[in-house]
Amino acid sequence: MKQIRFLDVGWTYQALAPKMDTAAKRVLESGWFIHGDEVKAFEKEFALYTGAKHCIGCGNGLEAIELVLRAAGVGPGDDVLVPSNTFIATWLAVTRTGANIVPVEPVEATYNMDPAKLEEALTPATKAIIPVHLYGQPADMDPIMEFAEKNGLFVVTDAAQAHGAVYKGRMSGTLGHAAAFSFYPGKNLGAFGDGGAVTTMDDKIAERVRKLANYGSTEKYVHECKGFNSRLDEMQAAFLRVKLDKLDNWNWTRKTVASIYLEGLKDTPLVLPVIGEKIQSVWHLFVVRCKDRDGLIKHLADNKIEASIHYPIPPHKQGAYKEMENLSLPISEAIHKEVLSLPMGPHMTEEDAQRVVEVVKAFFK
Ligand SMILES: *Cc1c(COP(=O)(O)O)cnc(C)c1O
Repeated sequence: MKQIRFLDVGWTYQALAPKMDTAAKRVLESGWFIHGDEVKAFEKEFALYTGAKHCIGCGNGLEAIELVLRAAGVGPGDDVLVPSNTFIATWLAVTRTGANIVPVEPVEATYNMDPAKLEEALTPATKAIIPVHLYGQPADMDPIMEFAEKNGLFVVTDAAQAHGAVYKGRMSGTLGHAAAFSFYPGKNLGAFGDGGAVTTMDDKIAERVRKLANYGSTEKYVHECKGFNSRLDEMQAAFLRVKLDKLDNWNWTRKTVASIYLEGLKDTPLVLPVIGEKIQSVWHLFVVRCKDRDGLIKHLADNKIEASIHYPIPPHKQGAYKEMENLSLPISEAIHKEVLSLPMGPHMTEEDAQRVVEVVKAFFK
């Protein structure tokens, strides 16, 4: 029986090997490895892809969020509204600016930030909101933006899991005032190392992000502010250009796998993902909820199918945020106890997805 991998980053190289080899050779032979033509070209191509006016490459997704927050003037004394259930990077980016985290609970069906809960979370110190497009599905942006505008708040979307996702005809990367992307290898658009980017329509934010990411400098050896170093390198940019060409295609494969799961598992006791109206998820993860999660994971493993958990512990229960451990965030806590991610990615065939369905169904027989 063939092993069905949860994720297979190696496969993405195998699928594009000749093009990747050519890209790597081009960079190596150019003798230019930082801030060169590949990054410039990728920034242009990714801006075009998302429809954003600006794209600025940076070191990783965490720093992409931090850069935007700092560019928007967020710092010590400010409150930032963040989802209670997200990958911890969303929280850490806020912490790194010195601002305070104010967790907002999700809509249970979609796992995304609940716009109806923003009002009660608002304080006089609130400066920004970070909606996360969790598991590949854009957050419900219209009411979030309406709330932000009413209260003069800055909105940076954490789009680390949502390259190519669409909300009411608008692409992920153009929702909110700015967006932060990660190109960690396991993401829908992943490098063969670390990478990230900021996209925005806002000229001022773009200029500040670019400066902050480059030692506070726009002119060599002239430093106007205390920036830091966060760069996408030429090699990763060259790889990303090859993969960007494939992104829609590979997102389509994910969608096909998701359709097979949704159809095949609809009569099981699993809680299946719910996608909002006029929203297109890019299925970064296919997350179900199961009362006997450990049992199902073991059953899948016995049948050579890898599953995973996103995420086993909510940020406020992590050692990193001990000061928040007494917060009560019941929706988030309940979700974290039951979620399970089925194999998902462009490495999967329809037969693989069908086999996952049969094995899951057998668990409940
Ligand atoms: C991956 C991820 C990040 C961080 O990206 P890195 O490139 O690993 O720093 C941030 N937010 C979310 C939701 C993520 O999934």
